Order: sequence, then C-alpha cells, then structure tokens
Amino acid sequence: MIHQSEISSILDGYDREKITIATIGSHTALQILKGARDEGFKNMVICKKGSADVYRQFGLADELVIVENYKQVLETAFQERLIERNAILIPHGSFVEYLSPARIENELVVPMFGNRKVLDWESDRNKEREWLLRAGLRLPREFKDPADIDRLVMVKFPGAKGGRGYILASNPEEFEQKHKALELIDKEMYTLQEYVIGTRFYPHYFYSPLTDKVELLSMDIRYESNIDGIARLSHILQDSLPEPSFVVTGNLPVVIRESLLPRVLEMGQKVIETSRELFSPGLTGPFCIETVCTEDLEFIAFEISARIVAGTNLFINGSPYSQLLYDVPMSTGRRIAREVKEAIKGDLLDEVVY
Ligand code: ATP
Repeated sequence: MIHQSEISSILDGYDREKITIATIGSHTALQILKGARDEGFKNMVICKKGSADVYRQFGLADELVIVENYKQVLETAFQERLIERNAILIPHGSFVEYLSPARIENELVVPMFGNRKVLDWESDRNKEREWLLRAGLRLPREFKDPADIDRLVMVKFPGAKGGRGYILASNPEEFEQKHKALELIDKEMYTLQEYVIGTRFYPHYFYSPLTDKVELLSMDIRYESNIDGIARLSHILQDSLPEPSFVVTGNLPVVIRESLLPRVLEMGQKVIETSRELFSPGLTGPFCIETVCTEDLEFIAFEISARIVAGTNLFINGSPYSQLLYDVPMSTGRRIAREVKEAIKGDLLDEVVY
C-alpha cells in the first residue's frame, strides 16, 4: 500500500489555488463535476470515447481527457499529468471497479479523496462483516455449509457487480441444482446469506473529519431488474416465476419514517467510530449502508459502500435531508468539493485526501 507520507509529499507540491477535481466519466461523475464547479474548482473528467459525449452534452467539464482503457490512468505518464494539474481524484463505484482496489492501493500516487485504507475493508466480505458487526449493526445470517440452508438464502459471489449473478435457494437441494448449472469460474467462492424480507433503505452519509460530524445527506432505494419487475406480475407468474436477478437499473428517492431516523444516524456514527479503531484514521467522506428494515422496525445491514454511491444522483439539487443542513443545493458531489475547499482553507488537506 502506498504510504500516506508519499501522498502528503505530492500534496505539498500542489498549488492550492489551482486544485483540479478529477474523476472517471461514469457513475456519479456529472454530480462530482457540477459540485466541483459550484464550489469554485476547476474540474476534469477522464472518459472512454463512447461516454465522452455525455459530458460534452452537459457542458460541465473544464477538461475532458479521452482514454482507450481506464487502466491507463495508472500509467506513470498519465499520473504525472494529473499531478501537474494539481488533481485530486474522486473515487466512485465504477472508478474502483475499473482500476481495481489492489492497484489503486499500490500504484495510484495521485492524491485521492478519502482514506484508501478503506478499500481493503470494504472489498473483503469477511472484513466488511467484522467491521459492521463490531459497529453493533445487525447483519443477515450466514450459512457456512449449504447443507444447513433452512430458509431463503442469497448466494453471493465475490466482487461488486451491481447485484449481477446472485442466485436464490430455499434448501440444500435447490442450492445444489442451481449451483451445478452455473458456469462461473469463481463458483466455489460464495457466501450464503439469509434473504431478509422487509423494505430497503440506502442512506447516504458523509463524515467530515474537519467537523467530526456524520451528516445524513439523502436516501434512495435501488430499482433492480428483474426482481422489481417480477413484483408487478407475481400473481400471474406464480407457476412460472423466472429466477430473480438484482441488477441495478436505476434509483428511487425515499424518505424514512421520522421515528426511524435516530437509528439511521446511530448506524452511521457507529460505523465511523469502529472504522477509526480498525484502520485509523478510519472512513472519511461519503458512504452508504445498504439495509433492509423488517416489520419489527429493525435494520439489517447487508453491505457498506465506502464512497459516493449512484443513488445520490437523484439529489444533484439537494434532498429533503440536505436542505435541512445546507442553504444551498448540496449534493454528495458538492459536499466532497466543499470538504476539499474547507480543508484547503484550514491547511488540512492531509486529513481528507489519501
Ligand atoms: P454493489 O456493490 O453495487 O452494492 P453488489 O453486487 O455487491 O452490488 P449487493 O448490494 O450485495 O450487490 O446486492 C444487490 C441487491 O440484492 C441489493 O440491492 C438488494 O436488493 C439485494 N440483497 C442483497 N443482499 C440481500 C439480503 N441479504 N436480503 C435481501 N436482499 C438482499
């Protein structure tokens, strides 16, 4: 892992008046670019040919760099070019997926928003589970042995694929039958997780080490295909239900029953406190806890995303929650830029960038 002192010495060479907020053209880039502009920064988007038009169309980027392949960002010459521009990279889900967590940790010397130590804790399912359990969150039950399956389980394979490729099974026989039919290379690496029935909430938090506060900026529900489509026809399809899939295709805005807000805030706070114990200085910046709320009004957390999530795209103009916190339309993208701005003012960039 690249040491923090290496990133610090690169930051020392940065002209603080000329910082560029840069990201990869996908996922939440529009929001990040707009947020950077709103906070007075220059911005840059790194795109593949096919996606560049989107960023041209919205006219939000000061600089648009075309690459053949996103891995090019890791090449020394490319990184030098970013450093010359005093670039701070904003990681998002696609950014991490395209560049790979291990290569980011070990090869990316361009200062990146947040704490890169989190990549390790979030990309390893066992570590992620340890983190959330220590934070006092309730998690879905896991089964070590398929023979023990006694309820509906989700069979999860490694790597974040936006919910692609999971299967469901209600008993050991169903598991064996479906598992055998899979043609996946890593089909031996699975987690058997209880399928929790309830309503989903994906709260979007932001932790600022500068103010030591966890803010709830917004919340969404993922719209997933084909499961959300099946729900509309379940009474007709009962005898011939297709295998459900959970591929994210969009996001729906949601607010939560107000009496549940204390628990939502407490979960965010606990996750931050525990992260400090596990990988000091812990998680900083945006994050999302993916939860299901049961009929007993308990939250079961099945995943954490330790960066800006795509559900925040709903709230480029702010959300019902961010409007209570800020007088300007505060998206998560803009909140990131605001944090960089505040850190520059206080000469504390090291606290928010690694
Ligand atoms: P990403 O990394 O983009 O979040 P992923 O591939 O890691 O995606 P998950 O977020 O773990 O996938 O799961 C995808 C979807 O499956 C969830 O949004 C949710 O609808 C459903 N899901 C996952 N785990 C559970 C669970 N234990 N109980 C009920 N539904 C679940």
